[in-house]
Amino acid sequence: MALPKRRHSSSRQAKRRGAQKIHVPSISVCSNCKSPKLPHRVCSVCGYYKGRQVIQVKKKEKKEKK
Ligand SMILES: [Zn+2]
Repeated sequence: MALPKRRHSSSRQAKRRGAQKIHVPSISVCSNCKSPKLPHRVCSVCGYYKGRQVIQVKKKEKKEKK
């Protein structure tokens, strides 16, 4: 395991930590089903991307009560 040769100054530590921030994931709306989805990703609800169906989404089967 690598160990640091020298102690990092508190300002250097603060500069590194200042660059880290919590980011809220940006959400876009699906052009097909209008459900929220992540941008540049296939919609998980309808499987559409760029106006065409890319993946087949398995429909959730409701559990039958006996
Ligand atoms: Zn969709």
